[in-house]
Amino acid sequence: MSTVSTVNGGISFWYANKGTPTPREPLPGDTSADVCIVGGGYTGLWTAYYLKKAVPFLNITVLEAKFCGYGASGRNGGWLYNGIAGRDRYAKLHGHDAAVRLQKAMNDTVGEVIRVAAEENIDADIHHGGVLEIAHTPAQLARLKDFHSVEIAFGETDRVLRGARETAERVRVSGAVGSTWTPHGARLHPAKLVTGLADAVEALGVTIHESTPVTEIKPKHAVTPYGTVRAPYVLRCTEGFTAGLKGHRRTWLPMNSSMIVTEPLPAALWDTIGWDGRENLGDMAHAYVYAQRTADDRIALGGRGVPYRYASATDNDGRTQPATVEALRDLLVRFFPTTAGSRIDHAWSGVLGVPRDWCATVTLDRSTGLGWAGGYVGSGVATANLAARTLRDLIQQDSGQAGPTELTTLPWVNHKVRRWEPEPLRWLGVHALYAAYRTADRREAASSSLATDPLAKAADRISGRH
Ligand SMILES: Cc1cc2nc3c(=O)[nH]c(=O)nc-3n(C[C@H](O)[C@H](O)[C@H](O)COP(=O)(O)OP(=O)(O)OC[C@H]3O[C@@H](n4cnc5c(N)ncnc54)[C@H](O)[C@@H]3O)c2cc1C
Repeated sequence: MSTVSTVNGGISFWYANKGTPTPREPLPGDTSADVCIVGGGYTGLWTAYYLKKAVPFLNITVLEAKFCGYGASGRNGGWLYNGIAGRDRYAKLHGHDAAVRLQKAMNDTVGEVIRVAAEENIDADIHHGGVLEIAHTPAQLARLKDFHSVEIAFGETDRVLRGARETAERVRVSGAVGSTWTPHGARLHPAKLVTGLADAVEALGVTIHESTPVTEIKPKHAVTPYGTVRAPYVLRCTEGFTAGLKGHRRTWLPMNSSMIVTEPLPAALWDTIGWDGRENLGDMAHAYVYAQRTADDRIALGGRGVPYRYASATDNDGRTQPATVEALRDLLVRFFPTTAGSRIDHAWSGVLGVPRDWCATVTLDRSTGLGWAGGYVGSGVATANLAARTLRDLIQQDSGQAGPTELTTLPWVNHKVRRWEPEPLRWLGVHALYAAYRTADRREAASSSLATDPLAKAADRISGRH
């Protein structure tokens, strides 16, 4: 297999596949709105969508630095699924029942995204095949079984544990010793979802200005080089790019994730793999892998690239390191040896937002009218939709149009977290963390022990993950 002809960057394969949209007009000058949303990814656009649907007369402006879907929302692995970063910590802080409510809300969110996409005629190649996570080593299998039981304890009674043979009947991953499957997941084409959503939001009467970077957010103001939008509510929906805003360098750490996609694979090759259910496919390694079988029969597979750039810098239009492309290609061939001769058409990367305690949050500060949602770590495709409906409810509550709702009382609402350490500690910490995870994976692969490698446990503790 060669990566010589691989396109690297260009935002993502998803845009090479569907075409990059022409940017909308930038902000023409100073203006005002009822709600100003900064960032045109899933979080910002879903929030605009639900607010406008709930209160059609609201004057809503979205300000987007590049074009809607430029960020992770147009680059991700297309796993629409019910995972939410921080649930276990929320269980510790607010009790098990509160975390079960959060989990149930996430389970429902998968169906909600599918429902609205259908209602708005957004064809995002959605296939509701669930999520299949596999184990390769004894330690991974032990972790997988623990994970399976924990998910059931959080209300996922429809989850299924499968042995090696049953797993192979679904998808033949080389060396897989078991798997856990949940129906709460669907495969989608991320860029088709986000661009379709932007069109739907605009059709509802929301104003979207693209090529309009916000330099500073302050109460009732979003400041750009072209003018300021004044609004009682200003919502920060910038996820992995948040560090670029004045005063937010240490709020959420921008963590990179990279992906590759194969050429469309022929039917004879698919016969060796199976995967007819097109489940979202992942594993239980510490440096985990996520993959999907695309609508046009490619494999798109992602994992950690260089995890973090010094001083919270972000990537250059999705370009990733050649070494990362090679590492992902090796993983692909390890999973599916029959792809060894297949072409890798495209490689790219994107940034996710990681809070110091790895917990996703949604907040409206009632004293300033400033709101934000994010810190989803790697699970934002569905979570952004739940965050958006929650922001809608919080704004309606704050403006006296409604009372508290089921969503406004979920445990991730208004959660506070401390900031990341200053450089160089931030850079050193993240690189040491991922080196530890890679070493732990290697040690577990070489061992018959059922226990998670102590290095991975230590890394979890130090990073604030557990
Ligand atoms: C490679 C990769 C794979 C992933 N795979 C999955 C997956 O399979 N499943 C899953 O659940 N999650 C996945 N994620 C995470 C998921 O994609 C994100 O959590 C989600 O898209 C976040 O949406 P968002 O709208 O909050 O942020 P983004 O999509 O990043 O949107 C933020 C937007 O804000 C804009 N912006 C930034 N700064 C400014 C500014 N100053 N002024 C104006 N606009 C600004 C950006 O241009 C961008 O369009 C993945 C992420 C990556 C990078």
